[in-house]
Amino acid sequence: MSPSSEEEAAPRGNPSLWGKFKGLGIRNSFLVGFAAMALFMVVVMITALSTSAAMSRSVTQILEEQLPVTLATFRAARAADALATSGASLITVRTAADQQLAFQRVASAQQILERTLGELTGVTESPDVADIITQVAELNQNLDSLKSLVDERLSLIDAQQRARTELIADLQAFQQELTFRVRILEADSDVINALMQRPSPPVEQIARMSGNTVPLIPLSRFYAEVESIGSRLMAATQDRTLASLAVTEQIINHRLQIASETLEKLPPDVTGTLSRQFVALRASSLSPDGLVGLRQRELNLLANGEALNQQNQQIIARVDLAIAALVDNRLGQIDQAADMATSANSRSQLWLLIITGAGLAGLVAFFYLHVLRRLVPRLTDLSDTLLNLSAGRYDVPMPTEGNDELGRLGSAVHQFRQMALEASRREEELQASNRRAEEAVKELEQKATELERVNGRLETLSLSDGLTGLANRRRFDDVLAAEWAHSARTAQSMSVLMLDVDYFKLYNDQYGHQQGDDCLRRIAGVLKTRIHRATDLAARYGGEEFCVILSFCTEEDAATIAEQMRSQVERLQIEHRLADAGVVTISIGVATMVPTAGSAADELVRQADIALYNAKRLGRNRVVCSSKHAD
Ligand code: GH3
Ligand code: MG
Ligand code: MG
Repeated sequence: MSPSSEEEAAPRGNPSLWGKFKGLGIRNSFLVGFAAMALFMVVVMITALSTSAAMSRSVTQILEEQLPVTLATFRAARAADALATSGASLITVRTAADQQLAFQRVASAQQILERTLGELTGVTESPDVADIITQVAELNQNLDSLKSLVDERLSLIDAQQRARTELIADLQAFQQELTFRVRILEADSDVINALMQRPSPPVEQIARMSGNTVPLIPLSRFYAEVESIGSRLMAATQDRTLASLAVTEQIINHRLQIASETLEKLPPDVTGTLSRQFVALRASSLSPDGLVGLRQRELNLLANGEALNQQNQQIIARVDLAIAALVDNRLGQIDQAADMATSANSRSQLWLLIITGAGLAGLVAFFYLHVLRRLVPRLTDLSDTLLNLSAGRYDVPMPTEGNDELGRLGSAVHQFRQMALEASRREEELQASNRRAEEAVKELEQKATELERVNGRLETLSLSDGLTGLANRRRFDDVLAAEWAHSARTAQSMSVLMLDVDYFKLYNDQYGHQQGDDCLRRIAGVLKTRIHRATDLAARYGGEEFCVILSFCTEEDAATIAEQMRSQVERLQIEHRLADAGVVTISIGVATMVPTAGSAADELVRQADIALYNAKRLGRNRVVCSSKHAD
């Protein structure tokens, strides 16, 4: 990414803040980014927790304050209704058993209502509750009145029962008398009717009987009236209203009036007992303690009870209103708490949405602007640069802009490129230097080879005889010492041949020194052909004398070899006119020893030299072993 495109990536609204952020460096910018994210998360958590706490408070208020009051209010309302219902049933009580049961129900309902009101008072101090308690006190007062009414009604019912019993007894006595009288009358009437049926009725008798019966005719009417009065009195106890009871009372009065008038029409002789009984009936009918009066008092009591019940219904209606107001109030508070919780939840969700959205937007902006648009392109540039550098392309642009970690990394890459360039230059110099060194080494190697070759030659020269090519004296001494030691270790015998050309001085004198040299070379050639084993050696001992070392060789074998050498030289037929044989010959002294500890190789040479001396002395051109001619 070029610096210009980086500037384009920066938000235009707050470039200084973006610039400060860019100047933080990658590590610190990421720390700031993560700190901002952590801050967002803390805010989200605080918001969520505060919402949860607000909702919890609302729910707690509903559960711990509003609901108990509402439930206690409902229980109180139900208990008040139950009390009113049990109170209303009081006016239906007609027996002592019913009374006991109804009173127990009322007492139980009162206890329940008292307890529920106590609970309600314990959970709220609302003025509605005080109102309810006042109403309930009035209700209890009315119930006490109703209970008194019940007591009074039961006593009235008892009195009515007694009055009915008395009335029935009176009516029975009265009716017995009347029945007796009416039956007499009916019997007379039957007799008159029978006489009237005759063909010739006894008119006089009929007239006489009728004269006696007619005055008694109202008695039937009186009897009917008394029966009617009795039934009306009995029915009066069943009258349900004061109005119908008043009508009944008027009817009874009317019947009493008619009965009284009818009674007055009866003959005095029959009215005595009836009059007394009628007076008693009339008195009991119209007395306040009579059935009508008692029923009237009972209906008044029932009316009072109804009025009290209506009052109670009104009280209950007021209690219901107060309870409804209380419940409405509590439900309103519950609604309010629920609304508060809902609005707090909505606010919290909105804030959570806003904060989370802002956090996500910030995160996306951070990654897009900072990571994707700023860091990733620079990292790509750096990796491309490093790939180019690793491929040996050093002429690529260096991504050194910025003073953060990537900028420092780019500077480091730049320095690395400089170092790599320097190293490359030095490597080229080193390669040139190496090439030169290699050439020098080759030259040195060639010279060393030459030197080795020269040294070899020098060594060969130092160890060989220049004229014959055989080993020289120095080499002979070295090999002799080594073989001597070797034979001493293995306790093997070794031999030395000492050779000398016969009359060679004369040969030189005769044929010249050059030919003498040539003669020596030819004799050396013969010696070379007889040497086969690696441990054997033929050497020029000095002048025209030669020495041969034969390791692990017995004297006999050594003499044989020596003889072969001698005869082969002789067979060369090199002319030597001054010699006895006319040709060049050689004399050989052979010495053989088994080396022992403390002995020296010189002794073997000396023995061979002695043998050679003996060979010369014995006439030359021969082989003499040191053991054969020890003298
Ligand atoms: P003899 O039979 O007793 O050995 O007699 P001789 O003549 O060989 O005796 P002597 O050993 O005294 O003589 C050796 C001669 O060998 C002397 C010298 O002239 C000759 N001589 C020694 N070295 C060389 C050499 O390298 N080349 C040549 N041509 N002659 C040599
Ligand atoms: Mg000699
Ligand atoms: Mg000689």
